[in-house]
Amino acid sequence: MIDIIFPNVCGFCGKINDNNLCKKCENILKRYFVIRQEKISNEYYDEIISFFNYDGFIRDSILGYKFKEKPYMAKSFVEFLLKQDILLEIIKTYDKIIPVPISKKRYKERGYNQSFLIAKEISNFVNIEVLDDCLFKTKNIIEQSKLGREDRVKNVQGVYALKNLQIINNKKILLVDDIYTTGSTVNECSRILLKANPSEIGILVLATTNEGNRE
Ligand SMILES: [Zn+2]
Repeated sequence: MIDIIFPNVCGFCGKINDNNLCKKCENILKRYFVIRQEKISNEYYDEIISFFNYDGFIRDSILGYKFKEKPYMAKSFVEFLLKQDILLEIIKTYDKIIPVPISKKRYKERGYNQSFLIAKEISNFVNIEVLDDCLFKTKNIIEQSKLGREDRVKNVQGVYALKNLQIINNKKILLVDDIYTTGSTVNECSRILLKANPSEIGILVLATTNEGNRE
């Protein structure tokens, strides 16, 4: 009965579909799918994993997901990603998943943390716990997307805090965010997380922008 009253729709186009991603949208996503897994040595984290170029359909979809009250799109993104075997192989090497937090004020406005929903959807499939009671954002700041490279670094300084440090100790942590532009946010989060002695920190983002000053 429930299926008849609330049919499943593809999160990207809104059309009724058996699951959360229709064939047509899946084919579009494939065109933007460029997996990037890179070891990093000059930041507070150890590697970055990104799946899409932030452009066209992907850009519109992520902005819709984040700003237009479309929390259900997390399922659609992850449904696509889980079809790519490489995602599971990478994620299985991690012990815990931590989403980049948003401030209480932003949470109230938006109603959901877009990074948490992605983390949660992934964890449903891989049986790796999502920790949402460790890393917090203590201040509401200007959206990073409104700032240039240098201001982004300053904007996030000192706005994150840790609780329950012992859960992170000696664990390989996967930090999840939506868009990677200059990396200031995930780098600052990693700097704070290092206080709890994780063994490694990896960053997983949906998309990476080509340049540092737009989003
Ligand atoms: Zn669709």
